Amino acid sequence: MGNSLVVIGAGHVGSYVVADAAASGLFRDIAVIDLDEGVAHGEALDQHHATALPSRTNTHIHAGSYADCAGADVIIIAAGPSIIPDPDSPDGPPDRTLLTEHNSQVIRQVMGDIAAVTTEPVVIIITNPVDTLAYIAATEFGFPDGRVFGTGTMLDSARMRRLIGDRHGIDPSSVTGVMLGEHGLSAVPALSQINVSGMPLEELGLGEPYELEELASAVVSAAYEVFNAKGWTNAGVAQSAVLLARTVLLDERSVYPVSLPLTGQYGLTDVALSLPCVIGAGGVHTRLAPRITAEEQTRLAASASVIREAMARAGC
Ligand code: ADP
Repeated sequence: MGNSLVVIGAGHVGSYVVADAAASGLFRDIAVIDLDEGVAHGEALDQHHATALPSRTNTHIHAGSYADCAGADVIIIAAGPSIIPDPDSPDGPPDRTLLTEHNSQVIRQVMGDIAAVTTEPVVIIITNPVDTLAYIAATEFGFPDGRVFGTGTMLDSARMRRLIGDRHGIDPSSVTGVMLGEHGLSAVPALSQINVSGMPLEELGLGEPYELEELASAVVSAAYEVFNAKGWTNAGVAQSAVLLARTVLLDERSVYPVSLPLTGQYGLTDVALSLPCVIGAGGVHTRLAPRITAEEQTRLAASASVIREAMARAGC
């Protein structure tokens, strides 16, 4: 019947995905799966009630099971925690190693359960570390190339465009540009490619543009500012996943930075990271590798190494 979505994991991020997907008006059916069946039931029912309000689409939102994946167009995975505190220093930075070990098990269980039913839907991974988990999900379960990918640097790129827009007093949607590589600390602003409605920023007299290092660390700081203030981040990444689902559903062939295994772009293979990709029905159609500066390429190679360390910990 079409226009159906499955959301797996209904915590801080997954519940926003359900809310944003329901508000988008694109879906006939949204099934919610969580290890905690009460949470899945409560989240789905709460959103189902909201569909009765004027101006809302009459979407059927319900708790589901893996059987619902059979007819789904898109599956979004937000299962597993986004942070695991360091057991030796609970108030310090969260433990990225433990998160990798834990969530690589979560993704293998979730993808195994999906693949037992179907390999037809497009699968969008949000759970972190997203690049490592996208690699596992895309390579270990028999899905065709491009059908499984991670939200990657969608969020980093949005934060970057927001920062640039704010600095120069312009709408970030008039700023074109992406971050490449890892979603997280080593993400690389493709500064040489950034423009305002097709025009080079430095030629417009809108003020001093960011430099590469300054911009890279401003994006990381922006993420930590949210994280330190509320304990998690969810708004931007949930919107990103729903935007990607729309692009797939409507076969829009939009270009967004998402994470999937590379096939030789910038000389890289056997690693998943974000590049701008053409996305439409069936998932990623084409990986794009814009010409970037030598400094940006060096940073991208370093970012790939960071991801490979996590992949090794995850048994890739
Ligand atoms: P985040 O901030 O990333 O959303 P949360 O801890 O708030 O993290 O939410 C994670 C959700 O994922 C929880 O509701 C949890 O029950 C769910 N979850 C954890 N493991 C699994 C799994 N294997 N299958 C389905 N859901 C899971």
